[in-house]
Amino acid sequence: RPRVLSGIQPTADSFHFGNYLGALRQWVDLQRDHAPFFFIADLHAITVEQDPKVLRERTLRAAAQLLAMGIDPERSSIFVQSQVPAHAQAAWVMQCLTGFGEARRMTQFKDKSAKGGEGAASVGLFTYPVLQAADILLYRPHYVPVGEDQRQHLELTRDLAQRFNSRYKKTFRLPEPYILKATAKIADLQNPEAKMSKSASSPAGIIEMLDQPSVSAKKIRSAVTDSGSEVRFDAEEKPGVSNLLTIYSALTATSVGDLEEEYAGRGYGDLKKDLADVVVEFVTPFRDRTLELLDDQAHLTQVLEQGRERAHEVAQATLDDVYRQVGFVAPA
Ligand code: ATP
Ligand code: MG
Repeated sequence: RPRVLSGIQPTADSFHFGNYLGALRQWVDLQRDHAPFFFIADLHAITVEQDPKVLRERTLRAAAQLLAMGIDPERSSIFVQSQVPAHAQAAWVMQCLTGFGEARRMTQFKDKSAKGGEGAASVGLFTYPVLQAADILLYRPHYVPVGEDQRQHLELTRDLAQRFNSRYKKTFRLPEPYILKATAKIADLQNPEAKMSKSASSPAGIIEMLDQPSVSAKKIRSAVTDSGSEVRFDAEEKPGVSNLLTIYSALTATSVGDLEEEYAGRGYGDLKKDLADVVVEFVTPFRDRTLELLDDQAHLTQVLEQGRERAHEVAQATLDDVYRQVGFVAPA
């Protein structure tokens, strides 16, 4: 059976619609025919400063949200990245294979360090894509379901896999990104040129899965739309309306074309009002289920422990192989 792996950072109290439509929904679908590993990327989270208590809480909230959206721990292994030491260990080996200039070309680092300036960014933020390559390669997956912003990191991962395989012996599989075009980049509601992001979006720009449903409805109704009044998908001319159509289409399994027809001759206001209702209907049960799961920490801990055991077994076997290839002497 083809293998699948992906991760998400516990960098906010809630996942948002970009995370869900860009990646997490595919996680749920892919469990049917694959044996996935999904992890909560706490090592990645600390590339920017985190409050320890908050990070711990968010890690458990992330696990609860994954279960609430339909990740089944019998089919999928859900684990916390820092609990599987092979990730950090393999990352060092991958760092020694990565060119400095190659790492410099990663646009996410440029984006994320732009605000405070490169000098203020951590070295961890700089080497983040290399840790990500280690995360992925350890599990030898066929597919990595992610949003568009991760495409460049997946290319680096494949380059590093290939480099390792040719320098030593064939050890890693070259993974394919699994990116659904329609929902690969959900935009910020207030700034439709930018992607919706846990750490960069303003509160009004982001629909959080765990927001009060009435708050989410209000955000949809106040989303920035474009000049003109025609409801039409046009990513260049009408990025705001197009983003709303994308979200609407994904949540209702209606094609964008059908939505354009439905709203022909009606204004943006109607579209927003109806989408707000759709969003409320979608997030209400999700939110209830997540809060329920958060009340049973023993269950969450048990799910994460089961995931950790399975992940550790696979990752450690690959790491042992990697260490041997590199020329490290195995302990007696
Ligand atoms: P941060 O701002 O802390 O980086 P994030 O919102 O980018 O948070 P991540 O945890 O980095 O979320 O990414 C989790 C997954 O969600 C990745 O697969 C990423 O590609 C996807 N993703 C994130 N934002 C979007 C978006 N706006 N549209 C589509 N997919 C997205
Ligand atoms: Mg991100």
